[in-house]
Amino acid sequence: MYCPVCLNNTLSLKDHGVLKIEINTKHRDNNIFLYDLKKESELDLHVNLQNKVDDFLRWYSSFQNKEPIKSFTIFSQDFSCSGGCSLPVNLNLSVIGILFQEDDIYEILAEGCAKYGLELDNDVEMITS
Ligand SMILES: [Zn+2]
Repeated sequence: MYCPVCLNNTLSLKDHGVLKIEINTKHRDNNIFLYDLKKESELDLHVNLQNKVDDFLRWYSSFQNKEPIKSFTIFSQDFSCSGGCSLPVNLNLSVIGILFQEDDIYEILAEGCAKYGLELDNDVEMITS
């Protein structure tokens, strides 16, 4: 990935850090979870994401006016540049395509929407970096 400071292809996600989810551009304080690539398998990450999405959709399903689920993103600030750049503190980049693949996310959203009676837009937008 490209570093926003030196513009070289030297940016990578750290081994551990914090992930945040936004669905339909909404987020809740507890939409945050930790990851640790040294301790967690791909399956662990998948299950954690599933739990967080489930939690969000259960909350969202209690809304009066429920819009179809149209957009999803999961992002992190925990990137580093191997060139040693100090990165902007507000740098938030999507980890779709890095930690999670679109197909897997789609599946998780589809399951959650079916469970809570929500509509998943056919063209749900996955925000990637
Ligand atoms: Zn850099």
